[in-house]
Amino acid sequence: MTLSRSLKGSIALVTGAGSGMGKATAEILAAEGAHVAVTDYDAASAQAVADGITAAGGSAVAWAFDVSDKDRIKAVVAEVAERFGGLDIVINNAGISAFCPIDDEDHYDLIWDRAVNVLLTSHQRIIRAALPHLRRSKAARIVNIASTEALGATNRDSPYAAAKAGVTGLTRALAVELGREGITVNCICPGPIHTGMTSNVPDADKQTFAKRRTAMGRYGAPEEVAHMTVSLCLPAASYITGVTIPVDGGLMARNA
Ligand code: NAD
Repeated sequence: MTLSRSLKGSIALVTGAGSGMGKATAEILAAEGAHVAVTDYDAASAQAVADGITAAGGSAVAWAFDVSDKDRIKAVVAEVAERFGGLDIVINNAGISAFCPIDDEDHYDLIWDRAVNVLLTSHQRIIRAALPHLRRSKAARIVNIASTEALGATNRDSPYAAAKAGVTGLTRALAVELGREGITVNCICPGPIHTGMTSNVPDADKQTFAKRRTAMGRYGAPEEVAHMTVSLCLPAASYITGVTIPVDGGLMARNA
């Protein structure tokens, strides 16, 4: 059996691709020869990433896309498929922080609803919109980005942790449901990564945390996660489905 490691000509949609791990994933997919829909609710950052890919000789188009906008999901997926002639790969990556103490009566419901909407509900909606196109693909791949917060939890992070744990469940359930059709559905749980999301954590605090909690003793780079994401998208990754892979510098492995 000969399996291809080439993404040349594959068509990929990445959410939250204007920054951090989404940006790195879009850039690596394009460097591997995929056509990439660079989507983000920050239109300017999506455009900048698409421009950078194009300047480097790759194929990318930017879309302003808020994943919590139910109607826009269908429109963007249809536009991407129309523009590139199909859709093979969906990377559900867009994310926000959602810390809130459980007894904060003024904010908890608001933050919970936002977290579930952006981090979880959007995944199933985008997958549902993409499914007719994925069903026509020869190597359909879905990768959902969760977090090590789906496997353990940080104090006062319950809206985020619950939504991310939901992503791992959704991944397994859809892997089972879509496996017979050859569509793979996998999930990555990044640990502490240098991105926009963690940019407000002071460097000294990052170092202290990483030394105390990870095996590698450091934060990860967005590319170190993105390469795993892209690996799951290869045509050759055809028998990997329903898995949740921590890319966390050994954070989940470490007890002391
Ligand atoms: P980031 O802030 O650098 O990038 C997130 C991107 O998502 C931004 O460009 C932002 O504009 C976009 N975005 C946010 N809400 C959106 C929405 N409603 N619609 C469309 N785009 C939206 O952060 P990142 O760390 O690269 O985050 C990527 C994913 O990784 C997220 O799902 C996040 O929860 C997850 N994650 C991050 C870490 C970490 O340490 N950085 C750890 C575990 C998981």
